[in-house]
Amino acid sequence: MTTPIRPPIRLALIGIGKIARDQHLPAIAANPGLTLAAAVSRNAAVDGVPNFHDIDALVASGLELDAVSIATPPLGRHAIAAAALARGWHVMLEKPPGATLGEVRALLPGDRTLFTSWHSRHAAGVAPARAWLAGRRIVSVRIDWREDIRHWHPGQHWILAAGGLGVFDPGINALSIATAILPGRLHVEQARLDFPANRGAPIAASLALKHGETPVAVELDFLQTGPQSWDITVETDAGRLALHDGGARLTIDGAVQSLPDSGEYPGLYQHFADLIAAGRSDVDLTPLELVADAFLIGERREVAAFEF
Ligand code: NAP
Repeated sequence: MTTPIRPPIRLALIGIGKIARDQHLPAIAANPGLTLAAAVSRNAAVDGVPNFHDIDALVASGLELDAVSIATPPLGRHAIAAAALARGWHVMLEKPPGATLGEVRALLPGDRTLFTSWHSRHAAGVAPARAWLAGRRIVSVRIDWREDIRHWHPGQHWILAAGGLGVFDPGINALSIATAILPGRLHVEQARLDFPANRGAPIAASLALKHGETPVAVELDFLQTGPQSWDITVETDAGRLALHDGGARLTIDGAVQSLPDSGEYPGLYQHFADLIAAGRSDVDLTPLELVADAFLIGERREVAAFEF
């Protein structure tokens, strides 16, 4: 018996900004199981496909689609996702999957695929790190995620507005990796959040998490100039594991490990296609829960006003 060949999934990409252009469009184009059938953005357009101003215009167009991928800022995603699911389309959400936990949960349960994507979990070092750590006793963990907001997010005012997550916009990538590689659950014990006087989201944060009885120190900084760091170091009873460059590079006791690298976004889109084919969803909110708990428990400090 031959396996029937599936037609490509007809996909609309919503929110044509930095990450849509840098990563989503190339990953969709490279996947034979997907075809870009439309783009949705208020001020931007993608050549070669029908473009729509917003989700309402897309729904009203009557265009036949199977799925949407949403790469707008988190605030406002819920309404877009809910409209797409109501239309019968499968939905992939960029990280973070929403501005609140409740709005993502409100999308469940449904009969279409919902995928809360965490691109950093597809970095080359993450699966090998999880495998190496399994069965070892973890002594301490340190996360340093320090980047220059002016370089990586020029003019993205939404990031420092309430609901934009501030320094947790990149920091949640570290938490998505930590929750994937550490065998137990993490919880927030203490947090300090630095809010610029003129902004609604933190520009730096310092967290003390626990993994069982093991301390996990997290330092997040959006004002790092010079060398940038996206590092996770795990001390174990059998050596030190370190992930660098956001999970792309793995060292064990300082020795660089060779890793196959197929790219984060190609992995995400293949997983989305596989979920649709299997009629399943993949909804994991644990990184966003940690951020929400940091906001709940965190001591807030006002720091100098910030201008891009
Ligand atoms: P961005 O450059 O600001 O692009 C987002 C696009 O969404 C905008 O260009 C805008 O296009 C559209 N949009 C819809 N509603 C919006 C609103 N209320 N405010 C602002 N823009 C709105 O942002 P991005 O860097 O691509 O980030 C988008 C998402 O991807 C975020 O969740 C972020 O965490 C995630 N992400 C970003 C990166 C990165 O390196 N930048 C990496 C991984 C993941 P129109 O004006 O045309 O509607």
